[in-house]
Amino acid sequence: MKHVLSAKRFLSGITAAGLLALFCLCPLSAAADNESESPYTEISDAAGLAAIASAPESNYRLTKDIDLGSDWKPIPFRGKLDGNGHILYNLHVTDVGQDKRVTRDGNMKEYDTEFAGLFSVLENAEVSNLTLKGAFVDIAERSHCFAAILAGYCDNSVVNGCSVEGRVHMKNSGVNAGVAGIVGYGNGFFEECNAEVELIFDDRYREGKCEQFLGGILSCGIGKIKKCNVQINGYVSCHGYAHNGGIVGMYHHCGMDYTVREISYCVSKGQISFFEDNDDRRAYCSSIGGELLTPPKKLFRNRVSFKRNEVWDYSKILSPEECEQPDYEETVTPPDCTDWGYTAHKCRGCDYSWTDTYTPPQHDNGEWTIVSDSDYEREGLKRQYCNRCGKLTGEETIPIKKNNKTDISPQKKSNSKIIWAIAAGVGILLIVETGAMVYSGRKKALAKEQNQPETAASEGNSANADNVKSDETDK
Ligand SMILES: [Zn+2]
Ligand SMILES: [Zn+2]
Repeated sequence: MKHVLSAKRFLSGITAAGLLALFCLCPLSAAADNESESPYTEISDAAGLAAIASAPESNYRLTKDIDLGSDWKPIPFRGKLDGNGHILYNLHVTDVGQDKRVTRDGNMKEYDTEFAGLFSVLENAEVSNLTLKGAFVDIAERSHCFAAILAGYCDNSVVNGCSVEGRVHMKNSGVNAGVAGIVGYGNGFFEECNAEVELIFDDRYREGKCEQFLGGILSCGIGKIKKCNVQINGYVSCHGYAHNGGIVGMYHHCGMDYTVREISYCVSKGQISFFEDNDDRRAYCSSIGGELLTPPKKLFRNRVSFKRNEVWDYSKILSPEECEQPDYEETVTPPDCTDWGYTAHKCRGCDYSWTDTYTPPQHDNGEWTIVSDSDYEREGLKRQYCNRCGKLTGEETIPIKKNNKTDISPQKKSNSKIIWAIAAGVGILLIVETGAMVYSGRKKALAKEQNQPETAASEGNSANADNVKSDETDK
């Protein structure tokens, strides 16, 4: 009965375990099916980010804020990048990426074009939850070129929940060219993106008339632009055709097949100062879209606080820096517990300023204080607090004390060895004694046997011997 019960229990145990295993495995296999895409590679430093270039179709996730410090070479990207709420700071780009693509102007004329930004080219990509802080994209002496902080070119991609803060400057020497906050040229889906940008376009092309584009989110292209906020400070010196907008410079399909055409729930603040040194005038500049050549199907609920500042003096290149010979004063603001540190550069002549060299927020860690010291039995605890805000910034255990205990324990070990040795010795002595007694018993019996008649002796003797043996063993 007992056996039957335990067998039943055993079987039901197996069944329960099996069900549990199935239960656990099912969601796993479902998840595996959902994640038929490649897994996410984690990125925690600038080298890891640059390594995207060697596998641009993979998926990535940031695990830290990253200082991009030195010159960044724009890379193409066709995967997914989850910024995971992290910040890439001090991006500095002075050159275009290697990848060229064809761009078109409003008349569908084609240009072999170069691109600059964190990414040169985004194609079927998805970038989300990423912030770029203190970025500077500075491009000169290039032909047809688009530059922006996130990407120069974008095709059929999603940019979601991304913020950029910084400057994009271009000295243009080609025809089709533009600067923007998020993306230079292309099409895509841009939602909940923010751009706080200083954009400067200085047209140096004199062989003909350039097609110039500038926009807080996109300088030239088409797509869905929704819930995006722009704070723009734009300066454009153009000797061709100017297309400037707070959100998008020129909204046009440019030959791209993108059906979702919407600009909604966006906020456009700031100003664009520009001149268009051209008798065949267009002079597009407005708060949302400079020129809406392909009209958006939805254009609503956008709010603006924007100044269109057209300038008629073409002799002076427009710039936020007003001095002929600027004189800058640098002030380093260190980070504190919650705010970033940075270096401010301010012109003594005109008060124009910009900031760079950001450093992440940092607590001012005080000395470690012992909460409870360790002893020979227990670990202790120590804590560290910020001198400024008093926040707990560190907590560590203090290891168990060793000195006396470690001295004693070898002694103990040797003592126990001695005890074991004594025990073993006693054991051996007992065995030897027992053996001796058995031996002497047999000897006595043998002596007896020799003094008795043969037949009786053999019986009695053996019995005696057995008795002795059993007596001894019973002991
Ligand atoms: Zn100045
Ligand atoms: Zn603090």
